[in-house]
Amino acid sequence: MSETSSDQKVAVVTGAARGIGAATAARLARDGFVVAVLDLDEAACARTVEGIEKEGGRALAVGCDVSDSGQAEAGVARVAAELGAPAVLVNNAGILRDNLIFKMTPQDFDSVIGVHLRGAFLMAKACQTHMVAAGWGRIVNMSSSAALGNRGQSNYSSAKAGLQALTKTLAIELGPFGVTVNCVAPGFIATEMTEATAERMGITFEEFTDRYAKSIPVRRGGRPEDIAQAVSFFVREEAGFVSGQILYVAGGPKG
Ligand code: NAP
Repeated sequence: MSETSSDQKVAVVTGAARGIGAATAARLARDGFVVAVLDLDEAACARTVEGIEKEGGRALAVGCDVSDSGQAEAGVARVAAELGAPAVLVNNAGILRDNLIFKMTPQDFDSVIGVHLRGAFLMAKACQTHMVAAGWGRIVNMSSSAALGNRGQSNYSSAKAGLQALTKTLAIELGPFGVTVNCVAPGFIATEMTEATAERMGITFEEFTDRYAKSIPVRRGGRPEDIAQAVSFFVREEAGFVSGQILYVAGGPKG
């Protein structure tokens, strides 16, 4: 690991072993942040960390289940001890447990709410202590266009809509302490999460992507880098007057 210079801020990205989280971690490292790469399995974070280090950045892999209050607290404490106080938090970790309501189990409802919504709350709670003490912070929550309603996703849609409300409320509570809180709501993005959805539907990922692309005004599916770019905007110094906002990044209008 290369040395951290004292003016480098620390960013925590959850669910950063792959997909949108990995692209966001890489982007924030390029933007000059030292990055804590959090995911369920510490070993799975190695690829993201190595990619950042190869480009001359600094990153730390942290194994942490964000839906567990003890692990969220311990994970943030470890970041603070090994890298420095978190100044940026990107709540990106997520799971899918899709089903129509008549088949969805209460457990599948709870686990999705637990990772997306409770996890974001727990991580924000642990990180805001450091941000408020420093008088500066940036929190970005990963919502989804599914927050507007999506068949088979009553658990996920509710969690993603809840994240938008959490964003607005934390923006009000933490604004006086120099902390902005915003939300990125992606549309269709090519990752392992959407690959798994195609598999469940029994079609190839290419077919799935093509179907989506036809309905997207810019006529292509999104890439993880498209989302990382939006996060990069929200966390920069110059975005300090932008707070409590939901930015749909979906190749066309939503909301
Ligand atoms: P992904 O490829 O499935 O990556 C999600 C990551 O989160 C995985 O590495 C996963 O680890 C990790 N994770 C799951 N549960 C966790 C927990 N309890 N604690 C810590 N990490 C956990 O998903 P993605 O497509 O990049 O999506 C990232 C975020 O964007 C999610 O919040 C998703 O809802 C949102 N989003 C995605 C799309 C899209 O089209 N892809 C659209 C809108 C919104 P494991 O592999 O070990 O499970």
